[in-house]
Parts: sequence; structure tokens; C-alpha cells
Amino acid sequence: MIDYSDNRYFELFEKQKSNQFAIGKTNYKERLKKLNSLKTALEKTFKQEIRDALYSDFKKPHLETDLTEIYPVVDEINFAKRNLKSWLKRQKVDTPIAMLGSSSWIINEPKGVCLIISPWNFPVNLTFGPLVSAIAAGNTVILKPSEMTPHTSKVMLKIVSTLFNDNEVALIEGEVEVSQELLKLPFNHIFFTGSPQVGKIVMKAASQHLTSVTLELGGKSPVIIDDTYNIDNAVKKIIFGKFLNAGQTCIAPDYVLVNESIKEAFNTSFKKHLTEFYSENPSESKSFGRIVNQKHFNRLKGYLEDAKSRNATIACGGASEEKDNYIEPTLVFDVSEESELMQNEIFGPILPVKTYTSSQQVIDYVNSKEKPLALYIFSKNRKRVTEILNDTRAGSTCINHNLLQFLNHNLPFGGSNNSGIGKSHGYFGFLEFVNQRSVLKQHTMGAVDLLMPPYNNFKQKIVDLTIKWF
Ligand code: NAD
Repeated sequence: MIDYSDNRYFELFEKQKSNQFAIGKTNYKERLKKLNSLKTALEKTFKQEIRDALYSDFKKPHLETDLTEIYPVVDEINFAKRNLKSWLKRQKVDTPIAMLGSSSWIINEPKGVCLIISPWNFPVNLTFGPLVSAIAAGNTVILKPSEMTPHTSKVMLKIVSTLFNDNEVALIEGEVEVSQELLKLPFNHIFFTGSPQVGKIVMKAASQHLTSVTLELGGKSPVIIDDTYNIDNAVKKIIFGKFLNAGQTCIAPDYVLVNESIKEAFNTSFKKHLTEFYSENPSESKSFGRIVNQKHFNRLKGYLEDAKSRNATIACGGASEEKDNYIEPTLVFDVSEESELMQNEIFGPILPVKTYTSSQQVIDYVNSKEKPLALYIFSKNRKRVTEILNDTRAGSTCINHNLLQFLNHNLPFGGSNNSGIGKSHGYFGFLEFVNQRSVLKQHTMGAVDLLMPPYNNFKQKIVDLTIKWF
């Protein structure tokens, strides 16, 4: 037995561990009450504090906070409210005829004590979204938000400590070391959202206790546009998807693959609509946010310098202001494959465009990289869309738009391999936080009872018949 008593969070963990059965036994009404109180906190009591905190952290426009931080969690709660009763019902399943006299069912039992580690880019959404699923499933939870959005973490701590006892839900602020210390504890489930690099660290730590993990990771999400789709329409949607949150969105278009024949039209339309959205000077636009901190600002500036040194063409944008962590929305052509922009997830307002001449070229290119978290297709050609869907792999796909797949809680959200393991949202998120316990109850003596040792020819015949007929 490993002794954890010197772990800083041991006492809190133990408190939640001893409380887990009491929380696990709550019925759906009690769980909904907790979710409702979280809903009121987000929609009413703390709404303005959340907006102000996100503005202080990276000048996130209030409208974006409402749309991308508050609304998705409220919607997750509403979805759980509509469905939790049925998710918690024991689910009867058929029992094979060879086991006549028995019945079978599945119980969605809570996993126990869970850890949720979240990133900075949508701190409220990606901390409280999984929390909704964890509460719905009847778990106790420790939350560890990112150190990079400290104002938002403070408000979230206030919300959590107002609504919950720490033996049920607790939030711990702090640096990476806090996560590292927490990861040593034998949680029953870890739900991590962040980069693939840190995802590997989390999975390694979880393996020490065979803790199950949900890993919501990132990567390079491509957009494919062919010559059958209205360019202006596609461009407007891509600008929205790319520059929302200043490009710091896990499912933002990372790069665009355009048919060679529409390259110039794409370029012209992009410049026109970018100005329409963010004015001639986006640094003064109230609709465009900032890079979260200097480290990420320098990373993105480095990517641009690197691309330029490899003869990339900056079609528009390219400016930056260090004191404000501002990077202008930027469109880049002629990017070398070796450039940082094409080797790393960009996670900022820089959009490289590559051209292609055949569908196969696009498919081969996408498949030469890790499986993306999202893959977008703009096309009116149904055959081509089906071909791309069949011949590529991705966590999710949105056809003729981007980002929207995240907002439908009937769809599982998550990646595949390098972009993630497991799913979130709605029923799929709930399932990550439960063990589907199978139960078989025997009511009357069944066939198997006739087959116990000592074995003989008669019993062998019954087995032969069972294999043949049942
Ligand atoms: P990150 O991986 O650097 O950090 C995420 C969390 O892990 C933070 O809370 C941080 O404190 C913690 N952490 C960092 N280093 C750690 C370590 N060595 N050991 C233990 N914990 C550690 O990610 P980020 O920069 O906050 O977010 C950006 C990444 O997250 C991008 O790759 C993006 O695509 C991804 N992301 C994915 C989703 C999704 O839903 N799939 C959503 C948002 C962001």
C-alpha cells in the first residue's frame, strides 16, 4: 500500500473519499437541485463577475463570454435536467435463453472521487462543463483550473465554495505543481482538458493507480474548401471560427486547404470580411480578444518570424503589440511544411492557407498528420464530402460551418488518439463519470446449474446442444 499521508491534498481527498457513498446515493432530484444552483450562479449571481474576470485575464469580449463560457454550461445543465432521470434508471437488458430463469440490468454507478484539470482558453466552460457531468453521475470532485487565467479561477473558487462543501466539490488554484501533486493521488477518474503533451503526463500518472481517464486534447484542425461552395459564405464562417477567442480555441480552424482555382477569390473575400468584422484596425475592435500571456504571445510571434524566414507570404495582418499581448488576425500563404506554423498547433489568430488540386491530395495531406480534433468541410458536392468522411479520421466534423458541433449536446465531443480519449457533453459526458455496473439476478434454477461437476456424457450433450442451438 502506498502511503499518501504526506501529500498536501491527502486530507481533502480522504474527506471526499469518505463522503462518496453519501453523494453517490443521492437521487436525481437532489442532483438536479445542485445543478440548478450552479445554473443560477452562472446566469445571475456571478454573471458579471465572470465577464469582468475574463476581460481582466485576456480581454475576452462580454458577448463571447456569454456565448462560449456561460451558455454551453447552462445548456449542459438544461440537457441533464431533461435526461438525468432516465440516465439513472436501471437499464434492463435481454438475458440469453440458455440462462432462462435470470434477468439482467445495468446500473450507472458513480466512479467515486474525480479530478478535473482544465485549461485556460475557456476556463469556465471547460471546468464547469465536466463538473455538470460529474455531479449528474453522483461523484465527489476536485477541480484544478489553469494558473494562466487567475481572475477567472478566483471567481470559480468563490462559486464553488458558495455552493458546495469541500467534501463534495472543491477547487484548488495554483501552478502546475498543484496538478502534479494531485495526480499522485488514487482518484477514481481523471477528466483532463489540455494539450496532448500534458495529456501524456496525466495518463502516465493515472496508470499508477489504473485510474480511468478522459483526455480532451488538441491538435491541428484542418478546413477543406472546394470550388462548389460559396466563398464569401465560407470565409465569413471561417473568420468567425478562427478569430473567436483570438484563435485560442481547441477546435478553431488551424489551417485551410483551398482548391487552387479559388485561392485568389478566397484571399480577396478574406480581406473584405476581416475588415467588416474587426475594422481596419482590429486592435481597437471590441470584438477581438488578446493572447493570454506573454509566453504565448512570444510563441506566436516566433511562429510568424519563422514562417517569414521561410518565404511565407503575409496576405493580411501580421502586426503585434507586445505590451497588450495583441496579435493581429493574420492570413499566411506559401507556408513551408517545415515551418513552426505547420508543425505545431497554432492556438492563436494566425491562419495558414495551403492549396490543392485534387481531393486525393487533400486526403493524403490530412492523413499524414495526427488525427485532428475537428475536420471541417465546405462543399456542396455530396460525393466529395462522403469521400473525405470515409477516407480521413477526426474527433468531429462540421460540414459547411465550423465550431457548431461543440454546441449540440446530442453529439459526443472529443478527439481520437493524439487529439483525445473519451468524450464529453450530454449522455456521453455522463458516461465518462460512471461505471456501467452489470447485474444478473437468478430467480429460478437455470441450465448452468445442471452442468456442475462431476461432468459426464449427459452434461456434455447438453453443452453440445447449447453451443449448437443457443
Ligand atoms: P496545458 O496542457 O498546458 O494545461 C492544461 C492544464 O494542465 C492546466 O490546468 C495546467 O495547470 C495543467 N498542467 C500543465 N502542465 C502540467 C504538467 N506538467 N503536469 C500536470 N499538469 C499540468 O494546456 P493549455 O495551454 O491550458 O490549453 C491549451 C491546450 O488545450 C491546446 O492544446 C488545446 O487544443 C487544448 N484544449 C483542448 C480542448 C478540448 O476540449 N479537446 C479544449 C480546450 C483546450
